[in-house]
Amino acid sequence: MSRELPPLDLHAHIDPGVAPRELEQLGAVVFAATRSATEFERTTHRTDQVTIWGLGCHPGVAAAHADFDAERFAELMQKTPFISEVGLDGGARTDIETQTEIFRAILTLATQTPRIVSVHSKRATSRVLDLIEESGAPGIVLHWWMGSQAETERAIRLGCLFSVNKSMDCGRLRRAGVPLDRLLPETDHPAGNGRGDGPKQPGWTLDVEQAVAVEFGITPAEVRTQFWRTLAGLALGLNLDGLFPRPVRAMLDAARPRAGDTGSPAVGQEGQT
Ligand SMILES: [Zn+2]
Repeated sequence: MSRELPPLDLHAHIDPGVAPRELEQLGAVVFAATRSATEFERTTHRTDQVTIWGLGCHPGVAAAHADFDAERFAELMQKTPFISEVGLDGGARTDIETQTEIFRAILTLATQTPRIVSVHSKRATSRVLDLIEESGAPGIVLHWWMGSQAETERAIRLGCLFSVNKSMDCGRLRRAGVPLDRLLPETDHPAGNGRGDGPKQPGWTLDVEQAVAVEFGITPAEVRTQFWRTLAGLALGLNLDGLFPRPVRAMLDAARPRAGDTGSPAVGQEGQT
């Protein structure tokens, strides 16, 4: 029924100068999170097969803020299904008002032109949710989420997904009520996968699959299938397939349950949620 799909990584930092072949050799589909429009512009000529370069504006990087221009951002957004590393950072040097203004502008753009949006919320979880709620932007994936139980419940009500890495306790999310089909894997390479003895490389999320499998009482293979279905449902719901590299488009297509498929009839509804 299902062809083997590679591991997924929804948030990794990769040098835009790295050779495409090196990325293909990772054996994974990786969403590469640039931190600024300038960094993203270094990737727009690339023709990677299995890497999706995201347009970013890291709330912890002062230069990204100084550089921010909504018109330029809107234009660059047309080139990618993925907005990476936007949000708020309570520990950043840039004042929270400036961060808020920029994040609000990006969320407005993402409401008009939906994208998968990887959101940073370090020490600013509640305020990030306020802005997400205010904008109504779809496609939000909270990256390395550390909100309280009440905040996590609120994030679920707002329709957010969560990308989890090996440095996180996915049990905490499950106990707060996050269902399996709201989870996606990430490495946050190199920050999130520095510990442990697995390979410290983008795309290596086998440990996340394992941890989620244990937490939800299913196999790692079932977890990966679900991660792909979740991503495929998200891409379909936001009408983003055409912005993915062709091989990834085929994988998204393969991940979608067909009429007559056995098992998991509920996930067929995903695109509509
Ligand atoms: Zn990051």
